[in-house]
Amino acid sequence: MTNQNIPPGKLHMVDLQGQYAAIRPEIDAALAEVVQSAQFIGGPRVAAFARHLENYLNVRHVIPCANGTDALQIALMALGLEPGDEVILPAFTYVATAEVVALLKLTPVMVDVHPDDFNIDVGEVRKKITPRTRAIVPVHLFGQCADMEPLMQLAKDHGLFVVEDNAQAIGASYRYSDGTSKKAGTIGHIGCTSFFPSKNLGCYGDGGAMMTMDDTLADGLRTIANHGQGSVRYYHDVVGVNSRLDALQAAILDVKLNYLDRYADARRRAAAHYDSAFEGVDALIRPVRNPHSDHVFHQYTLRVCDGRRDALKEFLDQRGIPCAIYYPVPLYRQKAYAPKGGFESLPVTEQLCREVISLPMHTELTPAQMDYIAGQVIHFLNRGQ
Ligand SMILES: *Cc1c(COP(=O)(O)O)cnc(C)c1O
Repeated sequence: MTNQNIPPGKLHMVDLQGQYAAIRPEIDAALAEVVQSAQFIGGPRVAAFARHLENYLNVRHVIPCANGTDALQIALMALGLEPGDEVILPAFTYVATAEVVALLKLTPVMVDVHPDDFNIDVGEVRKKITPRTRAIVPVHLFGQCADMEPLMQLAKDHGLFVVEDNAQAIGASYRYSDGTSKKAGTIGHIGCTSFFPSKNLGCYGDGGAMMTMDDTLADGLRTIANHGQGSVRYYHDVVGVNSRLDALQAAILDVKLNYLDRYADARRRAAAHYDSAFEGVDALIRPVRNPHSDHVFHQYTLRVCDGRRDALKEFLDQRGIPCAIYYPVPLYRQKAYAPKGGFESLPVTEQLCREVISLPMHTELTPAQMDYIAGQVIHFLNRGQ
């Protein structure tokens, strides 16, 4: 038994130092090679990583870019949408999903999510489709896939594009009703991901990528990411942006891609450990695994159902136990994104914003650390009864 009152080592929301220490020789060699080559932008390292990620995901095209937000923006730019076109997205997500829509003068239409897996509710999407709807952006939140099979069918029926925000679920697989499966990010017309350091496949700076099975869309994405330059240098066919993954980041990612499945296993083991520690705690709902996806646990997110989520957060903060509220405010209540004509309050999103709390989740967590963290959570919840 561990001592419940002494934290076993320094606790982190994400332990990037520990993860680096475990693969340091490989990372250092890869970095040294890039520095030696002095090819910092583009070049064979970036191309090799893109190829390896294509193989891993079983997708025709991976187009690297500067970050996950750019990936979403470039994806929407490639679809040829017009200002005022409507894009449906979940109200319970990181701001980037809505930001790019607004930036392109498209209209974000926010819909409610499922209380179990926190992902977009396809039945609610159906209700929000209008003649101006052009695209849907499902987010694979916290590490498991939104329900893509009925969503793709709905999109097909209405002639809509689907852009997956896969910043949080790279490596997860979606299972179809016929038993086949596909990797998250390769199901919609375009998938987008982020290599932000704390993501499941993180680099040591900023990075992102787009993926698609469609050759024409792939050309469009590449062109837009490279200043709108097509196949001929210094000829610019469309207005683009400058968004590239640099070679140092690609070299790091190429090493870490080999560990991605092991990292997912470590996260799932950690989640199972937390789950058993929280078994039978009435005030908590543990993460629900949906039947159509595996879970890569970008976050381990509990729901605190007794109204004391904020008090629990304060308690853990005071004890130096890292935790976070993803996300405290529905998108439609954010000043920048509140619809002009007033917003419709979405009940599940509202409830989740009041109840969720995410605990430390990473590849280096020890059972003793999780026992300590869980012990403190349970100690607090038992106190007020
Ligand atoms: C991290 C994240 C993004 C943005 O990625 P960046 O690389 O930080 O730009 C977009 N959507 C979701 C859901 C994210 O978690």
